[in-house]
Amino acid sequence: MAEQEKEWQSVDWEGVKTCLVIMAHPDDPDISCGGTATLMAQAGIDVHYMILTNGDKGNHNPEITHEELVLMRQKEQRAAAETCGLKNVIFMGEEDGFLQPTRELRERVVRIIRSLRPEIVICQDPTAYTSGTGYINHPDHRNAGLVAFEAIFPASDNRMFFPEMLDEGFLPHKISQLYITRFSDPNTRIDVSAVAETKIKAVFCHKSQFAEREQQAMRRWMDRWGEENEDGTRTYWEHFQVMRFERRRTDREVEEEEGEQDTDE
Ligand SMILES: [Zn+2]
Repeated sequence: MAEQEKEWQSVDWEGVKTCLVIMAHPDDPDISCGGTATLMAQAGIDVHYMILTNGDKGNHNPEITHEELVLMRQKEQRAAAETCGLKNVIFMGEEDGFLQPTRELRERVVRIIRSLRPEIVICQDPTAYTSGTGYINHPDHRNAGLVAFEAIFPASDNRMFFPEMLDEGFLPHKISQLYITRFSDPNTRIDVSAVAETKIKAVFCHKSQFAEREQQAMRRWMDRWGEENEDGTRTYWEHFQVMRFERRRTDREVEEEEGEQDTDE
């Protein structure tokens, strides 16, 4: 189906108070959904970034130690989040390049989901082994998607998982929407033109990743995703597969519905 004929799903942020973005590396949220995060923050939604790995492989300079790079990347990610109007970045500190969906990590992510109680989670695509025709998708990106999926379902919303959390006050939580960042066959696109400059600024906060000369390439990359309008301006999109989940009914709602059925008969 041609892009212009595609029926896009409408975006629904009604009643959304909190969004948690779960990604593999510092800079992943800015590149994949920084515009959407900015728009959400402007709409009064609390957006939190969770970065699963410490990013300690993301530089080729032999002068820089792993420890220095980890600190540098945290600083860059905090600056980028601040640029987008976000207040909170959670660093999970897993080793870059070897991210695995372990039981231990799932428990840590569930604890945060149950504590922040986001209506929306944005994550990477666990099924994407390739990206376009020129890239093998980074295994951490796939595994970050898997970590997010496995924390959301069934663990976060099931009190039988990690029962000790109940005593600590971390009650089960079901998210209402999942945004999976993807380029192939997305069902939702968000117009981020109004905050495109903010997004680019946030991406360029990651100085350890994008040297001055690479910033030009980055601009061209963004242009590729933009669409030229008749008046010469461009519209920039971020693409997602959005899933929506039914809210679990309360005992009272179930009782009321069963009562109604009884009177119908
Ligand atoms: Zn990455």
